[in-house]
Amino acid sequence: MSGTMRALRLAAPAPAAEAPLQMVELPVPEPGPGQVLLRVLACGVCRTDLHILEGDLPPHRSPVVPGHQIVGEVVALGAGAELVAPGGEPGAEPLAIGDRVGVPWLHQTDETCRFCRRGDENLCEHASFTGWDVDGGFAEYTVAPAGFVYRLPAGMTAMTAAPLLCAGIIGYRCLRLIGVVGEGAGLPSAAGLPSAAPEEPGRWPDWPEEADRAAGPAVTAARPRRLGIYGFGSAASLCTQVAIWRGWEVYGVARDEEHRSLALELGAVWAGESGDDPGVLYDAAIVFAPAGELAVDALRRLDKGGIVALGGIYSSPIPPIEYPWIYHERVIRSVANSTRQDARELLRDAALVPVVSRVQEYDLEQANEALLDLKEDRVRGSAVLRVVAD
Ligand SMILES: [Zn+2]
Ligand SMILES: [Zn+2]
Repeated sequence: MSGTMRALRLAAPAPAAEAPLQMVELPVPEPGPGQVLLRVLACGVCRTDLHILEGDLPPHRSPVVPGHQIVGEVVALGAGAELVAPGGEPGAEPLAIGDRVGVPWLHQTDETCRFCRRGDENLCEHASFTGWDVDGGFAEYTVAPAGFVYRLPAGMTAMTAAPLLCAGIIGYRCLRLIGVVGEGAGLPSAAGLPSAAPEEPGRWPDWPEEADRAAGPAVTAARPRRLGIYGFGSAASLCTQVAIWRGWEVYGVARDEEHRSLALELGAVWAGESGDDPGVLYDAAIVFAPAGELAVDALRRLDKGGIVALGGIYSSPIPPIEYPWIYHERVIRSVANSTRQDARELLRDAALVPVVSRVQEYDLEQANEALLDLKEDRVRGSAVLRVVAD
C-alpha cells in the first residue's frame, strides 16, 4: 500500500484549550517484519492521551500521532506476520487480510527482560507504547506488531469496542490486582456458569442472549463485597459492569453530577463526592482520577485488610498518610500498563457480561475538542473518534 493519509499530530505539548493536535498528510506507514497495517475504523480517547498532549508525561517521540484504543481492519501483512499468533495467545490462528483487530496501549515488549520472563510484561524494561513511543490511531492507518493486537468479540461495533482497549484493559487489571477477577476471585465457570474460555484459541464466544445475561453474578458471599471507584470516566464505567457481574457492590465517587448519575445508571448502589460518607467500609477501591488526595480518601474508607489500586499513569502528589489509616494490613498500590493476558481476559469477559460501552462520538478532526471535553468532565462514558463509518 502506498499513498498518503490524514493524521492528527502533536508537535509539542500544550494545553488542550489551545488545540495542539494538527491535521497533516503523512505517508501511509509500511508494515515492518511481524507487523500488520491497519485501516483505522475507530480510536478511543483516553486520559493518557490528554497527559501526553499537555506534557504531564514527557514526550517520547516528537512529533507523534497519539491514540492507543484502536479498532482497525488488517489491510497488509509485513514479512512473517502470517506466522504470528495474535495477542501472544499460543495456538491462536494468525491474522489475515480483512480481520478486525484491536490495538492497545502496550505496543510491544522485548519478551526477554527479567520482568517479561517472569510474566510481568507490563513492567518490561524495553516496552514501547502506542501513541507515545510510536505513532498511534488518531490517523487513517497505523501499524502494530501482530503478536500485540487482538481479535475482537463478535457483535461489537468498532465504536463500542474501542474503549475496551485501554480503559477496559486497565480497569480489568485493577480488578485483577484487588481480587475481583482472576485466580481465586471466583471464576464464572466455577459457579456453574458457561465456561469463560474461548471454544478454540483465538475465537471468542458470541454475545450471550438476553436470557443468559441474567445468569450472573458469579460469586456468593456472606455479604456482597464492596468496591469504591474514584473518578467515574471511561475505565470506571466499563469495570463497574464486570465487578457487578462478579457479585460486588460498587460505590461511585465523582466530582461531576453527570458522572455520579452514570454510576447509578450502571448499577452502583451509591454515588457521591469525595468526602461524602457512603456509610460502609470498602473491601477494595480503585482510584482512576489523577488526584493524590483521593488515594488517601479511599484508604480512609477501607476495611481491615483492604486494598486500594491507583489506576492512573499520572497523579498529583499523595498527601501524607497517618499510620492508623494503613495499619491492619491495608494495602495501597499502583497499576502500570497491562499484560497481553489482561487484554485477552478482558475481551473474553466483556463478551460474556456483556460490557456495554456508553460512547460519546467525535469525528477524527474533532480530537482536540474530545480531549478538551475529557479534561473538563464533559464526557459521559467513553469518547471515541469515528474514523470510518462502521
Ligand atoms: Zn521485557
Ligand atoms: Zn489509555
